Amino acid sequence: MSDQSHPEAWQRELKRAFTRVEDLLTHLELDPHRTALAADAPHDFPLLVPRGFVARMEKGNPQDPLLLQVLPLQAENDPVPGFFRDPLGERAAVRGTGLLRKYRGRWLVLTTGACAVHCRYCFRRHFAYERFSLHRREIDEAIASLRRVPDPGEVILSGGDPLMLEDDWLAEILGRMGEIPGVRRIRLHTRLPIVLPERITPRLCRLLATGTQPKVLVVQTNHPREIGPAVRGGLAALRQPGITLLNQSVLLRGVNDSSATLAALSEALIEADVLPYYLHQLDPVEGAAHFAVPDERARTLMGELRACLPGYLVPRLVREVAGADCKVPLA
Ligand SMILES: *Cc1c(COP(=O)(O)O)cnc(C)c1O
Ligand code: SF4
Repeated sequence: MSDQSHPEAWQRELKRAFTRVEDLLTHLELDPHRTALAADAPHDFPLLVPRGFVARMEKGNPQDPLLLQVLPLQAENDPVPGFFRDPLGERAAVRGTGLLRKYRGRWLVLTTGACAVHCRYCFRRHFAYERFSLHRREIDEAIASLRRVPDPGEVILSGGDPLMLEDDWLAEILGRMGEIPGVRRIRLHTRLPIVLPERITPRLCRLLATGTQPKVLVVQTNHPREIGPAVRGGLAALRQPGITLLNQSVLLRGVNDSSATLAALSEALIEADVLPYYLHQLDPVEGAAHFAVPDERARTLMGELRACLPGYLVPRLVREVAGADCKVPLA
């Protein structure tokens, strides 16, 4: 159980995260008055970025690719046609307590609305997580619904970020999901190994490795500089018990929209024993239009990547389309 008087190191680190734009910019030696900041960053999606991630930013650079991912800008408030609050129609996919049936043979479990970082381009930034997340008192009901599915296939713990859960609760979810007949794989989508590597404790690695099904962990890295020594250490610890590590990135203007950056990212990933999996075209979510890269440009970048990398280091360029059974390939 959680013991608030003895939070773990990662929880203490999270408490120290930057939540005020002014503090972050001062720390980075940037002038808060010269940056086109969102005067009224939405209070349900404020700045949030752990110090360890900030330490990988370059001081004095307002265009730093890590900073751009987390800094609320004035441009977020400009209404742009074609950008919506629920671009993927997730509300329509809700199937009961914390469960989302978006893809055939895969069940998404919304474990929590919480994340360790608030990515400004996030497609779930307006999603009413708390209303749809799996609460502890509802676990029996969620397990019962999954048991009624003839061949559930894969369970994907998503969120928010499932590694924000405390160890005991995560262990209970993993254990009980793993006992359901027909669950052949368990996957987690998480950004914590990248933004809060303190989360990767020996105990977490042990509990992720428990159970009979293969475990797949999909992390999210968008720029090679996100992978520092602490991140590499955590990823190595996760690989140790045989967890498969994949990466997904979002193609973001000003962050990683060059083939040199994307190639360096693939190289950094494989060095950390992580395979590049997806490169997502941005979901058209309200407030993120300034990150959009045109499809033509995205295809050109993919061509350049294929020309300079072995095939297994080239991620699949995809877009998510509301109601589609799988991601739609773009390349
Ligand atoms: C795409 C996606 C999935 C399903 O992934 P596949 O690898 O295509 O099966 C699950 N969760 C999230 C958050 C996704 O974006
Ligand atoms: S970590 Fe993932 S879910 Fe959380 S804000 Fe970033 S992109 Fe969104």
